[in-house]
Amino acid sequence: MPAAFFGHGSPMNAIEHNRYTDAWSSFGELTVKPKAVLVISAHWFVNITAITAMRAPRTIHDFYGFPRELFDVSYPAPGDPAIAQRVVDLVEPTYVGLDEDSWGIDHGTWSVLVHMFPNADVPVLQLSINSELPFEYHFGLGVKLHDLRREGVLILGSGNIVHNLRLIDWTKQGQGTDWAHRFDDDVRSIMTSDPSSLAKVGDHRDYKLAVPTPDHFLPLAYLAGLSAAAASPMKTAIDGYEMGSLSMTSYELAAS
Ligand code: ZN
Repeated sequence: MPAAFFGHGSPMNAIEHNRYTDAWSSFGELTVKPKAVLVISAHWFVNITAITAMRAPRTIHDFYGFPRELFDVSYPAPGDPAIAQRVVDLVEPTYVGLDEDSWGIDHGTWSVLVHMFPNADVPVLQLSINSELPFEYHFGLGVKLHDLRREGVLILGSGNIVHNLRLIDWTKQGQGTDWAHRFDDDVRSIMTSDPSSLAKVGDHRDYKLAVPTPDHFLPLAYLAGLSAAAASPMKTAIDGYEMGSLSMTSYELAAS
């Protein structure tokens, strides 16, 4: 069974080399090449559960105000329609729509994968995050994806534990505020001991500051479900903070 991973980059991470991108690269170098990568990205947050099912997913530049070279980034990994259909069957009776022409590979996915699998030779699929449904739904889908992992697919959750763009402080490069540390630390103690209890952070005193909207947090629910299904806690791959209100913590679920 391949490893599973949680991490997230800004578009800039695609063209930078830093501690985080080094961690993603070394994970890619050390892991056995998977049959495909299924990504749950914060940036495909829509009112339906869907999976990309095209043979050649396009690279999506879902941002603005960044340097031109980021709009030139292409990640030409193939898709895998058979695996998309396999996911549809696997999670029944939960409905997953086959997306033939809407989405592709967004920057939540390619900002990490350009480092993890730089040759773009592993097929990539994305599973949307259904914005209408609660934490338990996403955790439950993660549990169901355990069988897909057993079939050789690497699952990548692309999000941030702490992600509050409104409270970004440009003077705090490489630093997190006290509440960001508190929340990230408490999530880490859960993820590295008993990820099946992750839902309880909804009651954390810093939850509303760390998770003002659920899009960047929910990819972790899938990893928590996978981790619970594998009866194996996760380990921290790299940690750090940016601009006060973002945490860059990446987690790895060991191969077995
Ligand atoms: Zn993002």
